[in-house]
Amino acid sequence: MNPRSPIVLTGIAASPGFASGPLSRLDTTTASYAPKSSKAEEIEALVEAISTASAAVAGLIEGSSGESADILEFQLAMLADDTLAEPAFAAIGQGADAASAWTRALDIEIGGYEAASDDYFRARGADMRDIRDRVLRALAGTEAGPGPSGAILFGEDIAPTRFLETDWSSGGGIALSAGSSASHVAMLARSRGVPMVVGLGEALSALSGEALLDAKSGTLTAFAAADEIASHHRAATDFAAERAGAAAYLSKPARTADGTRVLTYVNVADPSDVDAIDIATCDGVGLMRSEFLFSRGLPDEETQYTAYARVLEWAQGKPVTIRTVDAGGDKPIPGFTVAEGNPFLGLRGIRLSLARAEIFRMQIRALLRAAVHGSLKVMFPMIAVASEYARAKEMFAEEAVALSARGAAHRMPPLGIMVEVPSVALAPEAFADAAFFSIGSNDLTQYVMAAARDNASVASLNDTSHPAVLRLIGEVAAFGAARGIPVSLCGEAGGDPALIPHLLRAGLRELSASPAQLAAAKATIAGVRL
Ligand code: PEP
Ligand code: MG
Repeated sequence: MNPRSPIVLTGIAASPGFASGPLSRLDTTTASYAPKSSKAEEIEALVEAISTASAAVAGLIEGSSGESADILEFQLAMLADDTLAEPAFAAIGQGADAASAWTRALDIEIGGYEAASDDYFRARGADMRDIRDRVLRALAGTEAGPGPSGAILFGEDIAPTRFLETDWSSGGGIALSAGSSASHVAMLARSRGVPMVVGLGEALSALSGEALLDAKSGTLTAFAAADEIASHHRAATDFAAERAGAAAYLSKPARTADGTRVLTYVNVADPSDVDAIDIATCDGVGLMRSEFLFSRGLPDEETQYTAYARVLEWAQGKPVTIRTVDAGGDKPIPGFTVAEGNPFLGLRGIRLSLARAEIFRMQIRALLRAAVHGSLKVMFPMIAVASEYARAKEMFAEEAVALSARGAAHRMPPLGIMVEVPSVALAPEAFADAAFFSIGSNDLTQYVMAAARDNASVASLNDTSHPAVLRLIGEVAAFGAARGIPVSLCGEAGGDPALIPHLLRAGLRELSASPAQLAAAKATIAGVRL
């Protein structure tokens, strides 16, 4: 029996699962550095620390693959990039010591990434913090050890490499006071099956001892009573059984219990995401978020063409829906975006692409050329009015003419729209000429419920199962069916076992989910009777 009454903190489940064990605080102590006696020694110390950090990251790359390897390779490339350390060396030249010069230089970079409300950029911010701290530890001659196995690691946030260094084979989980369910660590946690809850708030830092992590409903319980511990263990056992059962559905086409075929696609971001997916397990790509390619600045036409063609070839003729760049005033793409006070309602998605036509046209050319490599479909994000779709379609036609004049091989893909702004969901008749609709339930939910998708304090309001959101989804599905316009859904709801039955009953027969959710989505579909 616990002498204290239980404390339950609620956050957002970022990777489903259950863990119980001792809380282990993520190290937040800053390494202390003894300054050297000359500028030359400071420079030498920083050069050495960067090379120590690079060697450690390179060591972690051996034995990792897919997403983990991508993250580590990004970090290694940043460490090898002279422009990152340049301001630090300049500051040493002005008299700063290596540790403070490096911290200042990296903090400026980190600030830029973290100011973004876009998931990909924020995820890069965590990578940059990881790099900063690793070099600082190398300067101070201290190394953070891996997390103890079986423990619930807790703190404000967790560095991707800390995750990769931890042995998860005997359980354990992650509980964060801040963090994001779209961070790299969250992606890694989902693909490794490590339970993780984010946004638990400041009260987390005061906890200690044994705890129960329920990363299905997003809670952390400390000082649990015996009956709570027993029910946690039962839920964990059921969850493990469910997960094992779901894996069996992966290789089969998805069908409901009464035999209705449901097309199940995957959502991808980086083109390399597909390396870890067997094309036989899905019906194609329902959403490729092309902004990933823009996360390190503007990609040229060839870079984009190669990335799109790679995914199309992997799909072996199955449809691949690529979304044109969904950047916004909140996404710091140098030379593309503008600073805005209310970015979710600002110059984002198609609005920005139409405003910056030369950048949009480059992406259009890359897509038209890549289309010859497979079954490409292209869709536009954040469409609100019909003129946006008409203008984007015109630009595709104009660029196709230009490519013909150049003698460049290309093909016009079907052009569809994301249905994620309430104006479109409420009045879809203005878009009857679109080749297809893809419902973006993440944005549709936040705009219908007036609850930001990245704000933990209104997470309970950001609810796709609210009747207002489901009614709109049902109406869009019915409109599509009546007019012969295919309708799919590619938001997080498409992979959420709690929501899938609602979506199928609303009339949807095409869902796109993140690769980590695919097995559970197919298993859920198999249990639905329509
Ligand atoms: C959505 O809004 O549901 C969606 C799929 O797009 P994103 O999450 O990239 O905004
Ligand atoms: Mg969206």
